[in-house]
Amino acid sequence: MNPDPLYPRQNPAARKLPWWLLLLVTLIAVFVFQQWHAGFQARPLTYRIGTVDERFGMSREAFSNTVGQAVSLWQQAVPRELFRETPDGALEINLVYDYRQESSDRLKTLSLKIDDTKGSYENLKAHLETLKGEADQKGASLAQGFAAYNARVGAFNAQSEAARRTPVAESSYRRLESERKELAEAKTALMHRQEDLKETAKTLNSLVVVINGFAANHNLDLVDYHQTGDRLGPEFSEGEYIQEGGRRTITIYHFPSQDGLVRVLAHELGHAQGLSHLENPQAVMHRLMRTDSLDLSLEDIQAMKAKTGSR
Ligand SMILES: [Zn+2]
Repeated sequence: MNPDPLYPRQNPAARKLPWWLLLLVTLIAVFVFQQWHAGFQARPLTYRIGTVDERFGMSREAFSNTVGQAVSLWQQAVPRELFRETPDGALEINLVYDYRQESSDRLKTLSLKIDDTKGSYENLKAHLETLKGEADQKGASLAQGFAAYNARVGAFNAQSEAARRTPVAESSYRRLESERKELAEAKTALMHRQEDLKETAKTLNSLVVVINGFAANHNLDLVDYHQTGDRLGPEFSEGEYIQEGGRRTITIYHFPSQDGLVRVLAHELGHAQGLSHLENPQAVMHRLMRTDSLDLSLEDIQAMKAKTGSR
């Protein structure tokens, strides 16, 4: 095929197009594509508030605000929107009440100071020792009380039996009748003491749960109490993030304070963005969340930036 000599293959106008303009157009095209791609990647993770157990004494609105606080913590690290609360959010965030919070609430009613400090831990440990001593004493004294009561019941039964076989004087009947009443009262008193001892045992269990939870989170000594059962492992997770199939949930079980709740939420939100645990004990993303502060560590910030492609 011979090209028509009258119409050269190249457009004369194109020949005049300067190289830098071509380069500029290419650069603009690449930039626009990157922006579009980044925009696509940068969609925030949507979340919604699921269960909020009323035993925490926190309204849904207050919980949602607290989640918002945890979100803004991360938001300081990264300029783009990371999370957004929507009615049908992909990530469900729950506040579930179980033995962990129950135990620490029980101690709160006793005006025991509970927070994440070592002083609080030592304080609780000292209280545990005192209470153990009290419980042992109460237990021993109660056992004596029951033994004495049983002996009295035995004697009463024998006398009643004898009185039934051989008629006795009127005064003897009256004495038996008053003894019967006294025995009933003694039994009620013993039952009250037993209830009291049960309450002490529950408090002891709560103390052990909270102390061990704290100890596990701070690599401190675990304490022991015989009635605690197997629910007390070294694990005392305050919250968890789970991704199963299409379902993504954050569940919080325990928090010692409002700041503590923000911290544990921030930790789980970090997992939800794909962050792993960090070595720095001051990091929000540290495995045991030892920090007491509401600031992200440099490592937290770098990890989130790397994960979300922000510079
Ligand atoms: Zn974690």
